[in-house]
Amino acid sequence: MLIEEVKTVAKGRVIVLSGPSGAGKTTLHDCLLKDKKFNGRILRSISATTRLPRGKEVNGQDYVFLSQKMFEYKIKSGQFLEWAKIYNNYYGTMMKSTREILGQGKSLLLCIDVQGASQVEQKIPSALKIFVRTPTLEVLRERLIARKTDDAKSIEIRMKAAAEELECAKHYNYIIVNDDLERAYAELSVIIAREIAPESNRR
Ligand code: 5GP
Repeated sequence: MLIEEVKTVAKGRVIVLSGPSGAGKTTLHDCLLKDKKFNGRILRSISATTRLPRGKEVNGQDYVFLSQKMFEYKIKSGQFLEWAKIYNNYYGTMMKSTREILGQGKSLLLCIDVQGASQVEQKIPSALKIFVRTPTLEVLRERLIARKTDDAKSIEIRMKAAAEELECAKHYNYIIVNDDLERAYAELSVIIAREIAPESNRR
C-alpha cells in the first residue's frame, strides 16, 4: 500500500502524540495501548533510532536500533514516513510498519517529536495530532528532576527543547494539560473514542 492509498482506503487513523520529554506522553501512549475500550484497534509502530539502548531496552521491542550509516541510507531510500534528529540522534517511523498497521484497518499510534509530527501532517493531513504538556515549564523541570534519568546538563537541554516544542502546540488538534495522569488519560480516551471510528462502523 502506498502512502496515497493509505490516505484514501485506510479505515484506521494515524494518531500522533507529541510533547516535551517528561510531560507524560509515553505513559499516556502506554495507557491507550492497554485500554480494553479500544480492543486492539490501536497499534504502535516501533521507531528506529541511532541512539544506544538505555537500561532494559530491547532491540525490535522498544526501538529498532540502527547505525547512523544505516539510518541515513534508509532516509535516502525513502523508507521513513517521518524522521528527525533529536539530541544528536536520529529517530524515525518506518513506512513499512505504517502501511502494515493501516493496511490491517487499525489505527496507528505514534509518539514522536514536533518535527516528525509536522512531516506526518504534510503526508497524511487526516492525522489526529495531540500535544501533551505540563501546566508550566517549572512543573516539567520538577518532573525531570524527580525521574532521575537525566543529569543537570541534560535537564537544561531538555528544558530548552521543551520551550521550543511548546511553540508548536498551536498546530495540534488537541492540547492535553497533564497535571494529573488519571484526569489527562480520561481526556485523551474521550478524544480518541470520538475521533476513531467505532468497530461497528467499519466495513
Ligand atoms: P527517547 O530517546 O527519550 O526514547 O526519545 C526522545 C524523543 O524522541 C522523544 O520526544 C520521542 O517522542 C521522540 N521519538 C521517538 N521515536 C520517534 C520517531 O520515530 N520519530 C520522531 N520524530 N521522534 C521520535
